[in-house]
Order: sequence, then structure tokens, then C-alpha cells
Amino acid sequence: MTDSSSDELVIMLRKAVSRTSLLAEGNDPKLDSIVRQIRQTITKGANAKEIQAVLSNAEPLLIQNDEVQLKRARLIRATLERLIDLLEKQEGSRVPQRDKKQLESQIRVQWQTSSQWPSLVKGFLSLAQKTLSTSEPEPPESRSSFLTRLFNRQESDGQQNTSNPNQGTLDSADIMKQVSHTLIDLLNNLALPSRYDENINDLEHAFTQTTNLQDLPGLLDEVVHLIMISVGKTQENLTNYLSQLNKQLASINESISSSVNSQANLSQSRENFNCKLQNQVTNTAEAVKKSNDLDSLKSLIDERLTTISETMEEHKTQMIEQERHANQSITQLKNKVTKMEKDTVSLRSLLQEKLAQAMTDSLTDLPNRTAYQDAILPLCKFMQKTKKPLCLAVCDIDFFKKVNDTWGHQAGDKVLRLVPKQIKNALAKEDLMFRYGGEEFVIVFPNTALKDAEARAEAVRRTVFETPFNMQGEPINISVSIGITQLMPQESPEALFSRADKQLYLAKESGRNKVVADK
Ligand code: GH3
Ligand code: MG
Ligand code: MG
Repeated sequence: MTDSSSDELVIMLRKAVSRTSLLAEGNDPKLDSIVRQIRQTITKGANAKEIQAVLSNAEPLLIQNDEVQLKRARLIRATLERLIDLLEKQEGSRVPQRDKKQLESQIRVQWQTSSQWPSLVKGFLSLAQKTLSTSEPEPPESRSSFLTRLFNRQESDGQQNTSNPNQGTLDSADIMKQVSHTLIDLLNNLALPSRYDENINDLEHAFTQTTNLQDLPGLLDEVVHLIMISVGKTQENLTNYLSQLNKQLASINESISSSVNSQANLSQSRENFNCKLQNQVTNTAEAVKKSNDLDSLKSLIDERLTTISETMEEHKTQMIEQERHANQSITQLKNKVTKMEKDTVSLRSLLQEKLAQAMTDSLTDLPNRTAYQDAILPLCKFMQKTKKPLCLAVCDIDFFKKVNDTWGHQAGDKVLRLVPKQIKNALAKEDLMFRYGGEEFVIVFPNTALKDAEARAEAVRRTVFETPFNMQGEPINISVSIGITQLMPQESPEALFSRADKQLYLAKESGRNKVVADK
């Protein structure tokens, strides 16, 4: 995932937590303050550490809240068990065993589910009524039976204060007192809003006013009503909380989807991620409909958030892996480019070297005929354009064949290497010399008029001739003939060379060791 999309996600999660925390309020004042604190911390954009600290503070209260809820549930269970017990303790009572077992198993399964408490109490009510309707006429000694006496008040009234001789059975006043005590105790522990205090007092009073079981259904109805009020508030909150949470999850999913969609090249893995999240949100929506108490809600949300965070973690891992791959490819690409650059540089220098080689005569180290042909055209054009003079001389060693013939080819090479050096000594720095072929050299005098060029050519001739060569201990004289001419406006390099070459021919014709200028 890119930085921007993960930032976006974090913002969405902050919003989601902040909004849903509003719905968690209203259960416990202490918890409310913590929830507010969590919301503020998240809204102001605190970092993970700060949020962690606030959440750690909330943990004991959340646990405490859970414990309170558990305590209430235990109380409900104990109350119901006690009520069933009381029903059975009444002498002569006929508690239908099948119904009793059914109610007991219902209690075992549902005692922790607050929304089921009213139905459990109703279950007891129905058991009590069934007990009454199936009660057989009592033998005279059993007329003080709890049920009979409560249903036949006048009969039972007479025996109300008679102590019960049978152990394990109670008289109706005691029973009613205990039932009353048990139920009032239950109501007091259900933490109903204070405006219901009066209802509880009235109910308590009503219980003390009667020992007649006939009154029990009405009184139990009121108990059920109050229990329903007590769990109803939580129930409503749960429904809101869950539907809000679901909306938030859907909105998180949407935001992830849109940020994910914007990155087309990673579409496949992101599509899978989308699908997973979508399924999780849909599953949550369905599970929310089924969930009807705080505990199952808590575990449902825990489970969903864990799955979502696992999916996100998996997605993040995938993204990191893909990023690593991309980085690896980029690095490889960089390396390739760097290598290519290096190769190019070395190729270029190799090429330059080869080019230089191709332009240089290996025997004399002078630029060769190719180099001359490359250089002469632009040089001529430039001089013509700038109207500056340029002269060209063709210089040929006289009777060179004889040198080879007399002293050998190697001696000839030695002469070929030494003559250009002597020539150079007589030239100006800007003059250019090429080995045109065999024992023939071309000299270019840029920016030089014929008169000066001719003088330098004459200096060349003289220097070569006056420098004796040592041939196997014998000094010999070498001479050169030179034909020279000045470039004319519009003249081509070929025409220029041709005129100079013509002068060389004339120099040879006129006896060699001469400079002939085309005037
Ligand atoms: P001229 O005065 O008319 O120029 O007579 P020449 O002997 O110099 O001219 P010719 O063209 O008859 O002979 C040129 C000789 O130069 C022939 C060739 O063998 C020799 N030669 C050409 N290149 C080389 C080389 O690189 N090394 C050696 N040793 N000899 C070369
Ligand atoms: Mg020659
Ligand atoms: Mg020649």
C-alpha cells in the first residue's frame, strides 16, 4: 500500500472509532469518561503510543463493566433457580418435571443473555401456572400447600400461621416473603434508572400484601416488565452500535477500495483484498442481525476487527513484497543502466582510439591521408569564408627507391621516420603535415599567404638536404622536392591538391631538391 492510501485508511479508522465510541456511551459514567477520552485522543490525531495508553486505561473499566453484567446474569440465574426451588419446596405441589427440566436447561443456556431474561422469568411463570393447574386435591393434612393455599385464600388463611411440621417445606407466607425478597433483590441489582425506584417500591409493597399465588402472575408480569426495561436500553444501544459499526466498516472498505483502485498495476492482489474485506463487512452485517447481547457483540466485533486487521496485515505484507520486487527491479535496471553507461564510455573511447588509429600513420605517427581528406574540406571552406589565405605543399623524397635498394627497406623506414621530424623543425606551429602515401607528404599552411608558405617550404627543403643521415656509419644526403600553391576563392580541395602536385612534378622535372610555387 502506498503512503497516501495507508494515511487515508488511518484517517478513516480514526473517524470510525471516534463515531462508534459515541454509541458505546451511556452504560457507565466512568466508562463514558474513558470513551470520551479515547475519542478526543483519536480525533486530535495522537500517535499509536498515546492511543495505546488511553486504551490500556480503559481496559480495567471495560472488564469491570463485563463483570457487573456477569454478576447480574448470575443473580438472574440464582433467582430463577431459587424460585423453582421454592415452587418444589411447597408441600403437595406437583411441579411438572418435564416443564421444569425444560426451563432449567433453558436457564443453563440463556442465563448470560440479558435479552432472554424476561422470557426466562415468563418461563417460570408458566411453570408456576402449570403447577397450579395440575395440582391434585390435597389430603386434609396437606391443605397448607403453598399453591393450594395461595389459590384458595380463605381456606389457607386459617392455617397461615401454623408452623409446618414437614421438614423441607414452607408455608405460604414464608414462601411469598422469600419470593418477594428474591425478586426485589433482583430488581435492585438490575441497575434500573432511578425513575423506576417507585415501581420497585410499589412492587415490593404488593408482594408483602399477599400470600395468594393467584396474585403471583400479575406481580411477575410487573417484574418481567421491569427486567425488559433494564435490558431494553442496552438492547437498543447494541442495535444502534452494531448498525453504525457496520456502516463504518462499509465506509472503511469503500475508502480502501477507492485508494486501491487508483493503483492499476497492483490490481489483482488488491482485488482479492477488496473481496475479502467486502465479505467480512457483509458477514458482519448478517452476524449483527443475529447478535442480541453485549457479550456476543463484543466477541463478534473482536473477531471481525481481528479478521479485518489480519487481512490488512496480509495486504500490507503483499504490498511490501511487491514494493520490494519493484525496488529490486529498479535497482537491477539502475545497475544495467550504469553498466551500459560504463560500456558506452569505454566503447566511445575505444572507438576514438580506433578512429585515431585509423587517422594516424603507424610508421611516422603523422596524420594519414584519411585524416588529410577529413580536415582539408572544412579548413578550405573556413579560410575561403573568412577570406584568409591558405597554402598547400606536396613534398616527395627524391630517389627514395634507391635508398631502399642501396640500404635496405629498414633503412628506408628509418629515413621515412626522420624526414618528417626535420620537416617539422622548419615549419610554424600552426602548419599541418600528413603522410599522404609512400614517401610523399602534404603540408598545409593555414592563414598563410604564398610568399610566406614558399619561404617555409624552402626552409624545409634546405633543412632536409643539409641534415646528413647516418647509413651504416656512412653520412648520406637526402633531398625532397616540393610543389606549392595558394588556395583560390571557390576552389575545391581536389583542385588545390592537383595544382600543387603539378608544381611537384615540375620540381622533379627541373632537377629535384627544389620548391616550385604556382604563381
Ligand atoms: P622520385 O625522385 O621520382 O620520387 O623517385 P623515387 O624513387 O623516390 O620514386 P618511386 O615512386 O620510383 O619510388 C618510391 C619508392 O618508395 C617505392 C617504394 O618501394 C618505396 N616505399 C614506399 N613506401 C615505403 C615504406 O613505407 N617503406 C620503405 N622502406 N619504402 C617505401
Ligand atoms: Mg619519390
Ligand atoms: Mg613518390
